[in-house]
Amino acid sequence: MTTHRIFNFSAGPAVLPEEVLVEARDNLLSLGQSGIGILECSHRSKEFEAILAEAETNLRELLGVPSGYRVLFLSGGATMQFSMVPMNLLLPGTVGDYVLTGEWSKKALIEAQRVGETHVAATTEPEQFRRIPRSDELHCSERSAYVHTTSNNTIWGTEWHHEPDAAGRPIVCDMSSDFLSRPVDVARYGLIYAGAQKNAGPAGVTVVIVRDDMLRLDKAAQAKLPIMLNYRTYIENKSMYNTPPVFPIYIVHLVARWLRRFGGLAKMAEHNRAKAQLIYDAIDGVSGFYRGHAARDSRSLMNITFRLPTEALEEQFAKEAKAAGMDGLKGHRSVGGIRASVYNAFPIAGAQALAHFMTDFAARHG
Ligand SMILES: *Cc1c(COP(=O)(O)O)cnc(C)c1O
Repeated sequence: MTTHRIFNFSAGPAVLPEEVLVEARDNLLSLGQSGIGILECSHRSKEFEAILAEAETNLRELLGVPSGYRVLFLSGGATMQFSMVPMNLLLPGTVGDYVLTGEWSKKALIEAQRVGETHVAATTEPEQFRRIPRSDELHCSERSAYVHTTSNNTIWGTEWHHEPDAAGRPIVCDMSSDFLSRPVDVARYGLIYAGAQKNAGPAGVTVVIVRDDMLRLDKAAQAKLPIMLNYRTYIENKSMYNTPPVFPIYIVHLVARWLRRFGGLAKMAEHNRAKAQLIYDAIDGVSGFYRGHAARDSRSLMNITFRLPTEALEEQFAKEAKAAGMDGLKGHRSVGGIRASVYNAFPIAGAQALAHFMTDFAARHG
């Protein structure tokens, strides 16, 4: 049975590899030869334990995670990490430095302000978040516990193309929307977190990669933390203190296998550059009709944001694109315009189709 699928440009939850979906479908009724489907099996079963272990091994392999780092699977989305990061890392007398590059980093800051002392190390908000700050624009606190950055700004369509330089301070990075899209030098980070639903799986699981020495809360302070908000709970119980999100973890496991078959993250980064280039060329090619939101050196390879001459044309663009088999192109409500999200699993044929459509639409309406 083949199912009709369209080009899904959604920003998240987003497109998943078809191979992964087909395998998951088959395993809904019976995981391997077990006779029990993946939605029905105990998280303590040997089948699930093997899935969890392989997911971790493959993520470590793909990202080159050095020893001394834990790979954890949590619930609560990236948004829960906005709270867990300061609750676990912001010790009394220290400051959480935040680099503001979009809506999600602002939300992360607001949660940290509830917990302790914070400082804005840099912001590009006065420029409508069109760009990522240069290293020389980062002014971090002397008493910094960490410097929080957001590697890809899903809403505005900007992405860091240099590793943040915080002069030796530990970097905590929200990688939700470009996680596993390119190689990362994990050793430069104290903690990385990513909600799975943009690039790594379905909604419901968040991957956290944390260096052991980041966790310095003493026993008394830890005792005051709710058990589910303490990273040590996940470390000590191998992410299984309570029932973990079994199905989302299973899908992340299949996606990690798929990425390894694909050839790893360097290969995936090339693929993503080629896809994004097609659409950016269409923006730049029709002079004046499309206006990209991001500054050129900050353009995201995952979320491509642009405006048309009028809002009426933007609405028509999204409508006609949908009729042509391309959905999810309407920009985020806070920004407007058009946003094309082209995560790992998004096919190059879809980027070609959009680029053709853009050129044709501009010719008809320009
Ligand atoms: C989507 C997103 C979030 C929010 O993720 P939830 O899992 O919905 O909490 C946070 N940060 C970034 C960069 C995102 O793209």
